[in-house]
Amino acid sequence: MSKAAGKQASVPLLDVNRGNRELHEEIMEAIESVVLSGRFLHGPDVGELECAIAGTCQTKHAIGVASGSDALLLALMALDLQPGDEVIVPSFTFFATASAVSRLGGIPVFVDIDPHTFNIDPSLVEANISSRTRAIIPVHLFGQCAAMDRIGAVARSHRIPVIEDAAQAIGASYLGKPAGAWGDMGCLSFYPTKNLGGMGDGGMMVCQDDDLAAKLRLLASHGMSPRYYHKVLGINSRLDTLQAAVLRIKHRKLDEYSRARQKNASRYHEMFQARGLTNWIELPYQAPEAHHVWNQYGVRVRDGLRDSMRKHLGELGIGNEVYYPVPLHQQECFRELGYCDGSLPHTEQAAAEILHLPIYPELTEAEQDSVIMGIEQFYQSASLRRAA
Ligand SMILES: *Cc1c(COP(=O)(O)O)cnc(C)c1O
Repeated sequence: MSKAAGKQASVPLLDVNRGNRELHEEIMEAIESVVLSGRFLHGPDVGELECAIAGTCQTKHAIGVASGSDALLLALMALDLQPGDEVIVPSFTFFATASAVSRLGGIPVFVDIDPHTFNIDPSLVEANISSRTRAIIPVHLFGQCAAMDRIGAVARSHRIPVIEDAAQAIGASYLGKPAGAWGDMGCLSFYPTKNLGGMGDGGMMVCQDDDLAAKLRLLASHGMSPRYYHKVLGINSRLDTLQAAVLRIKHRKLDEYSRARQKNASRYHEMFQARGLTNWIELPYQAPEAHHVWNQYGVRVRDGLRDSMRKHLGELGIGNEVYYPVPLHQQECFRELGYCDGSLPHTEQAAAEILHLPIYPELTEAEQDSVIMGIEQFYQSASLRRAA
């Protein structure tokens, strides 16, 4: 690596402060009013945010909870998941999708992905349904909805509930219907790196059914109703008023954030093509049915060069990450489930090839240019080495 190359501007993978800085005064005012009110739990901001999110997801109900992981757990609790029950999940996802199943004694049944969208392959879902299947959890990975029409059709024909893991996909839609509105329940996360990111943990559940919504609220508050009378074995999972107050402000900008992410994705697309880099790099595919909100921009680096590319970009100070390097069926904690290497070939190949680049709304064009230049430079030096 030459010294000149090392001087290239560094580009963070994500800079949450840029978006928050612009809203600083509004956020501080909202925080102050919560502090002055003393209503740290069940404050009015929580209900207001729930209404706003129900609007975004076009669902009748939205229920604030402590995290996206809790939302998944509560959704399965609401279905009365029992030990030994099976739940169909992708393996190419964040851990929480499957840990919620295992924590209740259930068995995650890992299904391979469609290699284009990285989402669970709907044609494999039906083949994995057994008499013990109690739920299907499609994940809208990286901000693009899974094929919800096909998954929904399979689920209906077998009368199996669908829980959408929409943690990465708030504001996304499929065939015009929002993420969260397709399944029996939808789970959202406000983890700071998500498209609607809070200042700590937070999550929300969305659903259409009144009884289900009541059950979710009950389960999220110790199964308690009325006070100190516990009907069912619930947990404590609440969205703090402080988080809700901050998120209400950021929610007003959600569409703007999504558009900026889409603009960055199209610009990457054009630049990769214009520089002839698509001979080596496979760009993310956007299904025609999908309104993609680009929580992550993941390219495939072919020819086994992903890890050397990572190293190269790291030396240039260009933020990058691999979501996710080890598929869940190959994780140590799931070894007992008995999956062997090669059992989910598309998932394993994606984990070996994928590389994520900065895509956040405030990313500048100059920064995007640096990312592309860094990648171009990698192939130039790689071909020089090959020629030598
Ligand atoms: C972030 C995430 C979760 C968990 O959300 P937390 O709020 O961090 O608990 C679950 N599933 C997926 C796909 C996620 O990306």
